[in-house]
Amino acid sequence: MSLALAGIVLAPGLAVGSFLNVVAARLPLRRSIVKPRSACMSCGTEIAWYDNLPLVSWAALRGRCRSCGAGIPARYPAVELATGLLVAGCVLKLGLSGRAAVAAFFCIVLIAISAIDLEHRIIPNRIVLPATVVVLAAQTALQPSVEWIAASLGASLFLFAFALAYPAGLGMGDVKLALLMGAALGRTVPVALMIGMISALAPAAVLFARHGSKARKMGIPFGPFLALGSVVALFAGGPLLDAYLHVLH
Ligand SMILES: [Zn+2]
Repeated sequence: MSLALAGIVLAPGLAVGSFLNVVAARLPLRRSIVKPRSACMSCGTEIAWYDNLPLVSWAALRGRCRSCGAGIPARYPAVELATGLLVAGCVLKLGLSGRAAVAAFFCIVLIAISAIDLEHRIIPNRIVLPATVVVLAAQTALQPSVEWIAASLGASLFLFAFALAYPAGLGMGDVKLALLMGAALGRTVPVALMIGMISALAPAAVLFARHGSKARKMGIPFGPFLALGSVVALFAGGPLLDAYLHVLH
């Protein structure tokens, strides 16, 4: 039953992913995300609906603009696929429920933030702050507890302390992202923070090996790693946290 439902929400998930590409391309430039219709970034030709279908069109066009042949970054289909799969995954795990809606919304926001952070090295307040308010209100309404606000403040304080100690590695955008993570994940947010930090270590080590002490100033966008940790915590945070606590005892 859940599998069928998950299959059904896959298509709208892909469409949301397509919209996220528009948001990621336009919001940092302060352009409208509603108008005008999408156009090629290189030649400006308006993109016809049949060239704007999630995944399918990119594959059919072999990643090139129909008019000018300019490459369309693989980021576009990747964002669409990730959104579709995560939205379907939320329904598969939680059924058609309020909690699934909150989880899917959280995933969608994480993908938009990751795409923008990778390209522009910012985590826009205009996305992360309203999303935090929405998630905090929804979580508290669905499962009344101080868990959500406590995890939200705790996670962001933790990253704030980290940012003070290591300003080159973390920005205030990451601290605000932790507010959202805590509100969505509650008691499993430490799992997301740990996985995010550990997974960021590998590329940081590569950078350091290649560029030596200069790497310190280059920095890598931390948002996508926090997003990755958040997704793992969302789907497997409970068992991971229990396993960790079990090891401690
Ligand atoms: Zn073009």
